[in-house]
Amino acid sequence: MDHKTGLNADHGARLTIDLTAVAENWRRLSAMAPESGCAAVVKADAYGCGLTRVVPALWAAGCRTFFVAHASEGVAARAVLPEAAIYVLNGLLPGLGPTLMAHDLRPVLGSWEELADWAALAEAAGRTLPAALHVDTGMNRLGLALPDALALAGDSLVSRAGIALLMTHLVSAEIPGDPVNARQMADFAWVRAAHPGIPGSFANSSGIFLGAGAHHDLLRPGYALFGGNPTPWKTNPMRPVVRLEARIAQVRDVAPGETCGYNGRWRAAEPRRLATLSMGYADGYPRAASGRGSARVGSVRCPILGLISMDLIILDVTGAADATRGGTAILIGDDLDVDTVGRTAGTIGYEILTGLGSRYVRHYVTGHDA
Ligand SMILES: *Cc1c(COP(=O)(O)O)cnc(C)c1O
Repeated sequence: MDHKTGLNADHGARLTIDLTAVAENWRRLSAMAPESGCAAVVKADAYGCGLTRVVPALWAAGCRTFFVAHASEGVAARAVLPEAAIYVLNGLLPGLGPTLMAHDLRPVLGSWEELADWAALAEAAGRTLPAALHVDTGMNRLGLALPDALALAGDSLVSRAGIALLMTHLVSAEIPGDPVNARQMADFAWVRAAHPGIPGSFANSSGIFLGAGAHHDLLRPGYALFGGNPTPWKTNPMRPVVRLEARIAQVRDVAPGETCGYNGRWRAAEPRRLATLSMGYADGYPRAASGRGSARVGSVRCPILGLISMDLIILDVTGAADATRGGTAILIGDDLDVDTVGRTAGTIGYEILTGLGSRYVRHYVTGHDA
């Protein structure tokens, strides 16, 4: 271990994940709706941050309800969360019942067939099996259509299928002015009135910022827990969670007219100094950021030159005196936050987080060793 950089020489890069920041973000979101509970959405390996490391930190902060996408993710979460309520968003795929039951996982049911199948499993087991009911209010992706959810009012299928939570998902939560938000709010209120006594869950990260009308009984943030900006129209209120640093493998000087990288996509107009980083698109840094992204060496922002390679990235470090062999460059962190990196690569911060690789060293920090 190099104690100056904290980087192990065996690896080209290091991802630092701040678990204290994850817990603090959960508390901040919770505090925005003191009358509501706050769950955590930890699908896709907790947005790339490592499910089995992240969920105990959230549990310690007070989080008791978790959402994953797949049953396999639920099984992994259950192994470290023996007492939590764990919901599986993608619902009851055919044949999934035994796995869900064996690990005490709750499917988010979204069709008559799923409701009937789950009720039949509960009947055969001779006990109530809790689940959520997803009502579609505009996504047309998962969930029971609104008229069907209203028609289900008073039907014994709701209790036989163990419905302990009603939920829907926002179409455009990060655009507060979009009229679809108010429409979904009204439709969800309608569904809840048809099913009195069942708690409701409406808001993802951005939805929490749409005001008290969006809060209902259980908040469902994911992205904001991991430092993403839930309010893209203003400064990020969350604490950053991930930091990605790569080592400089070589520094070289190039003369005017020379190119760098595959297909010579960049050509030096004047003498430049280049640094080659020990990280590439195979590590989850998007190739689409070629020629557009940047990294920081010391306090200097250095542009990425030419095409990003599988294992290497070339920077223009002409202005960065700190760029030396064995030194480091920051790809994600500080002003290069996940939203900025996503935008630069023509995508969103969500995709940057969930694409984080496993090839570099992962370093988890808490308040004590941060
Ligand atoms: C992913 C997801 C969330 C969390 O959304 P964020 O925007 O990451 O906060 C909440 N609810 C459902 C149904 C989801 O699929």
